[in-house]
Amino acid sequence: MKYTRISTYLIFLTIFLLLINVVMIFFIFHTVKVLENDASIVNRMGVIRGSIQRITKLELSGNRNHYTNLIEETDQLIESLLEDKKLVFFAKDYTDFDIENIIIIQNKWHHLKKLLATYQANPTTPLLIQILNESEASWELTNFVTLNAQEVAESKVSGINNFYIILLIYTINVLLVIWVVYSYVRNNLEFKASYDSLTGLANRHSYEKTIEAEIERSNRYKTNFSLIIYDIDYFKKINDTYGHEVGDKILIELSNLVKNTLRKSDEVFRVGGEEFAIITPETDATQTLVLAEKIRKEVEAAVFYNDIKVTLSLGVADSFSGKTISDIYRLADLALYKAKNAGRNKAEKHL
Ligand code: GH3
Ligand code: MG
Ligand code: MG
Repeated sequence: MKYTRISTYLIFLTIFLLLINVVMIFFIFHTVKVLENDASIVNRMGVIRGSIQRITKLELSGNRNHYTNLIEETDQLIESLLEDKKLVFFAKDYTDFDIENIIIIQNKWHHLKKLLATYQANPTTPLLIQILNESEASWELTNFVTLNAQEVAESKVSGINNFYIILLIYTINVLLVIWVVYSYVRNNLEFKASYDSLTGLANRHSYEKTIEAEIERSNRYKTNFSLIIYDIDYFKKINDTYGHEVGDKILIELSNLVKNTLRKSDEVFRVGGEEFAIITPETDATQTLVLAEKIRKEVEAAVFYNDIKVTLSLGVADSFSGKTISDIYRLADLALYKAKNAGRNKAEKHL
């Protein structure tokens, strides 16, 4: 997959996750508002429930002067509940408790007020009984609505606890996705930095890292490793004769052929255009020359791109003769030029 495509996915994924976050934040704010409103509804219902009882009690005990303010307050509270219903955003969340019951409470309350006024003018026993009955019915209904509102509010709170769990899972998911995408992109970039895109072989950068590690290892454990440098003979002519694209195809086929000839512990690198290196751990130059000769023969015997013949010149040096990266490379390169000068299609080792 191309990196531009990965980064496009990454951008879309980030936007998507951010959008979900925005929705979640909106949901949290909205829920807090809903809960505030629920608490306010429960409070107001409680006050209405108590006020109706208190007004009735004060009237019947002859203390009517005390409750004029209370009547107005109760009127306003009932009005405010009905008003709320109209203002609410996502009304269903706010007033799951029965709004129609509030209208009934309002009607009952208006009726009770009329009865109280009549009772003030003409206090009779049947009216007293009627007031007591109406007041009791109001209590029952306001009590029912209050408890109902409480229940609704409580169920919402437990719903929010579940939401926190979802938020936690979501956050973990986001981190996981970011980690997966990050490692994927990083691995791809690392791969691109270490491998040649034409042949799929490890590139010069990998060669330098590997040979550095090999030198360290051979110094520490007093072991030996060897290096083969090989170059295609008269490759310019192949390009000139068949074209650059065919030249590329030959480079690919040749790379596969050499790779398949090697042991698992040996690694081949494309260090230049048509110049390659093989590092053979735990092997001296004489043993490695055998491998170089084997590769030379296999390439000589093969045909590339259907019928094109190609030969290699190879140079070998080992870590006994060269002690630094550039030493070993220079010595293997000298051996390679010896092979070229000896007529090409040859494998030579540095003496
Ligand atoms: P010799 O090595 O035997 O001396 O002769 P040569 O013709 O191979 O000479 P040299 O190594 O100097 O030339 C290398 C040629 O390889 C020149 C360049 O056009 C070609 N080459 C280098 N990289 C690539 C590549 O990636 N694709 C193709 N098709 N050709 C390449
Ligand atoms: Mg060359
Ligand atoms: Mg060449």
